[in-house]
Amino acid sequence: MSPIVFDNSYARLPEHFYAHVHPAKVPAAELIRLNGALAEELGVDAVWLGSSDGVALLSGNELLQGTEPIAQAYGGHQFGGWVPQLGDGRAILLGEIIAPDGARYDLQLKGSGRTPYSRGGDGKAAIGPVLREYILSEAMAALGVPTTRALAAVSTGELVQRETALPGAIFTRVARSHIRVGTFQYFCARNDVAALRQLADHAVARHFPEASAADNPYLAFLESVIAAQATLIAQWMHLGFIHGVMNTDNMTVSGETIDYGPCAFMDAFHSEKVFSSIDRYGRYAWSNQPVAGHWNLMRLAEALSPLLADDTEEAKSLAETPVATFPELFNEHFTQGFHAKLGTDPSAVDEAFLTDTLAMLAEEKVDFTLFFRHLTKVAAGGTSENLARLFDHEEVFDAWLVRWREQSRGTEDAAAARVRGMQSANPIRIPRNHRVEECIQQAHDGDYTAFHRLVDALQEPYADLPEFADLERAPKPGEVVCRTFCGT
Ligand code: AMP
Ligand code: MG
Repeated sequence: MSPIVFDNSYARLPEHFYAHVHPAKVPAAELIRLNGALAEELGVDAVWLGSSDGVALLSGNELLQGTEPIAQAYGGHQFGGWVPQLGDGRAILLGEIIAPDGARYDLQLKGSGRTPYSRGGDGKAAIGPVLREYILSEAMAALGVPTTRALAAVSTGELVQRETALPGAIFTRVARSHIRVGTFQYFCARNDVAALRQLADHAVARHFPEASAADNPYLAFLESVIAAQATLIAQWMHLGFIHGVMNTDNMTVSGETIDYGPCAFMDAFHSEKVFSSIDRYGRYAWSNQPVAGHWNLMRLAEALSPLLADDTEEAKSLAETPVATFPELFNEHFTQGFHAKLGTDPSAVDEAFLTDTLAMLAEEKVDFTLFFRHLTKVAAGGTSENLARLFDHEEVFDAWLVRWREQSRGTEDAAAARVRGMQSANPIRIPRNHRVEECIQQAHDGDYTAFHRLVDALQEPYADLPEFADLERAPKPGEVVCRTFCGT
């Protein structure tokens, strides 16, 4: 019997949803890291996966009985411009697994060579983006944010040509699905209503089965995606995360974070912070993420509109209500989450407190993560020394602290509950850019020590672990990384 049992529901959809492809063989596959805990969750034998047969699968060198490798077709708006044909140019879906808990997961190789959607690209991945995605996506999972996962990273023994020749690697991504807003747009743009319906039925069954019982299942589906994205984007922002490339092809309908290209967690806070070298106008800046998300969801509503009603005007008016609720829905999550981080009571606090706090953090260039973590210690009865040290101007901090104390008053029970809330909302370790870069630089010399250590350290981001104290630290002025690159 095959060590992994596949059940490939996407490959059972019509042929024009994807292209059959074959992963390219690589000369010398070597396992860099395997996510044993995730393998277990998937019901896959981690020992087998780490064996030479397992690595042959993870490198695309050998397929298993039951795999049906395909590249999925999709389109998308990239930085606002419509691209009718994108698709998996650098990714190959091997198949789907049903985990012991009944959940269905895609198993996808990234960097396994060209597909019909590769356009000018080579379909390969360099070690840098592979390690970045491994570190970032696993950190997100540990932080409690819905995300695609990292099952493995494998080096290929070949060089890929970017600006320079770099060591090649393959990343195994696990996701609830890879269905994107852009997948719906792809069929809508082709006026292929039958395909649109099949895709929507597939996505409903997979992600929001309860929507199928609604009067208008496709409208209920749209509402569910909107709700999932409102929560997701708020969660990113609570952690200072900037996705960097929120094109419609990089937004899942499952509500999982996908595409860890030029993303970053910020060190010093600024609401307009951008890292991506290609985001020249700040379209996907930290504070613009809900705006970008809303815009993408409007595109989803348009793409679904042939399914919502026979009459175009009626479809439009049906979609308007859920789409219009997004900003409010987002704001609720956003505000609630920041109250949890600040330990303030949303019903008692004055409305300007949160905006004033964020403005002050930006003004004083305060490290976002350390600020909330040190504040948590103060709330728990500790001294405010460490917190004060994050500020340039003592008087600014002192005045703020007085105001915060006023906003966080309450009974003893309420205070204790708030401290617990702060402890689970304010991590001590995030994948800081300079640390991620350090891992990549080392890996270019064949050394994965820093990478393994960082991944290990980020598995419990809320726990004080003295052995990882150096990874908590904000970058020194000379260490700050201001730009990130897709690396494709
Ligand atoms: P991204 O910016 O990573 O979302 O990718 C946008 C599009 O470019 C997708 O269709 C990718 O499959 C494709 N792409 C990115 N990198 C490569 C590559 N190295 N080779 C082929 N296609 C790629
Ligand atoms: Mg993408």
